[in-house]
Amino acid sequence: MLNLIIFGPPGAGKGTQSEKLLAKYHLKHISTGDLLRAERSAGTELGNKANEYISKGELVPDEVVIGMVRNFISNHPEAPGFIFDGFPRTLPQATALDNMLLEFNAGISLVLGLEVDEDELVKRLLLRGITSGRADDQNEETIRNRFREYQNKTLPLQAFYKEQGKYSGVRGIGEVEAIFWDLCAEMDKVKKG
Ligand code: ADP
Repeated sequence: MLNLIIFGPPGAGKGTQSEKLLAKYHLKHISTGDLLRAERSAGTELGNKANEYISKGELVPDEVVIGMVRNFISNHPEAPGFIFDGFPRTLPQATALDNMLLEFNAGISLVLGLEVDEDELVKRLLLRGITSGRADDQNEETIRNRFREYQNKTLPLQAFYKEQGKYSGVRGIGEVEAIFWDLCAEMDKVKKG
């Protein structure tokens, strides 16, 4: 099983690059942001509760997100591996993920970090807000709050995975295709093992 985490701040291009990576490496994509938005559209209790956090730019509580990922993994036993996009975002989520994968005798193979500076990210998110209609991309205060959450709760995961020798950072500015090839180069190193 090859399990990949695509890591980086909001707006770094995780979704875009995940789509390209899963086509090339035949992995199953799991985006907790997409799953939460689907719950909200379906009007479930979980979706409505999560939206209170999402609309403020805060992280949804760990147990909610971990439960969702656990369900997704157990519903896809045939998957040759996963791309985790937007998960884990906290240390408890990362340890929960390790434990889930252990049940399959598997672990995280690689963490690919997309590195983009904050001014560029704000520009991208505001632009995305115009086309996507995502309310959390339309308000600069919500966007700044998401960065604060990222700095405080998610960035520490970089050191967590670096210590395990699993983190590779790639500059996430420039042509989508060029960034993709840089990511593939990191993937291929791991595949060759
Ligand atoms: P982005 O990376 O652009 O912020 P996402 O679609 O990944 O977009 O996430 C949107 C929102 O969903 C986040 O701001 C957060 O409120 C919530 N969310 C997504 N994934 C998680 C997670 N793993 N843990 C907690 N909250 C999450």
